[in-house]
Amino acid sequence: MIDLHSHTVCSDGTLTPAELVAAAAAAGLRALAITDHDNVDAYDRLPDDRQDVEIIVGVELSLTWARGNLHLLGYHIDPHHAGLRTVLAQLQAARRVRNVTMVERLNAAGFAVTMEQLDRLAGGEQIGRPHMAQAMVELGAVSSIYQAFERYLADDSPLYVPREDLSPGDAIELVHAAGGAAVLAHPCQTRLSPADLADTLSRWVARGLDGLEVYYPQHTPRQRRLYRDLATRWRLAITVGSDFHGATKPGVRLGQVPGRVPDDDEVLDRLRGAAERHR
Ligand code: AMP
Ligand code: FE
Ligand code: FE
Ligand code: ZN
Repeated sequence: MIDLHSHTVCSDGTLTPAELVAAAAAAGLRALAITDHDNVDAYDRLPDDRQDVEIIVGVELSLTWARGNLHLLGYHIDPHHAGLRTVLAQLQAARRVRNVTMVERLNAAGFAVTMEQLDRLAGGEQIGRPHMAQAMVELGAVSSIYQAFERYLADDSPLYVPREDLSPGDAIELVHAAGGAAVLAHPCQTRLSPADLADTLSRWVARGLDGLEVYYPQHTPRQRRLYRDLATRWRLAITVGSDFHGATKPGVRLGQVPGRVPDDDEVLDRLRGAAERHR
């Protein structure tokens, strides 16, 4: 079993890098990619003992495009690539500005969330909306993280504040510059019709997109078939990811992704091959 999409405390997950590696080993994973949002700090904090889990260096970049939020996964990147580090620092700064504005909106709406509370919940590390959701649970304003998103924090909520992120083309180029393969995360979140998705993907493939995250917990069988067919059309790598976040996404288990996932070796070989084309 492999899992190519997971988060640590370095973004909005709840396990440390060492705890995540231990959890991957306990779940019987042979390969794990840690893909924190706009952040590669986990790679400076990995334990020496990987417990026979192959760690694939990854990142999940936040993108802005005409229809809202989108995420691009980068795999086999050099986590110390200077250009990548510079852009990640910019994204992290934009996130901090966004967080302050969002706290102001939450306060105006009557929720007494503070930056100090978010800092504490994030353990002094990068703050994301899941920490705001945790804060609202702590204040008794909602009964669960799920409810906080559903009512107040989703992309279409009036309290949500977008960030200035990368364009899809710039993000693909950045991943390639850092020596990695660029994979569109959870294509369901594009919320495009099949025809529009094919049209949009053809443009991103022209910009160098290397793969599609076909196997993802929220994908329906029909979506998996569509994404697999689109991946085949452009000879894209196919990946599998649970988007494990620990306690902030309680239903998600490491390595547990529905569907008839292709052979692990095939997935890993094609992903590595795609990255090697950008060295
Ligand atoms: P941010 O990057 O701070 O805008 O927060 C985005 C993160 O919020 C995503 O990576 C997810 O972890 C989480 N998220 C977004 N929508 C939901 C949702 N409906 N339920 C739970 N978590 C969500
Ligand atoms: Fe997240
Ligand atoms: Fe994502
Ligand atoms: Zn993710």
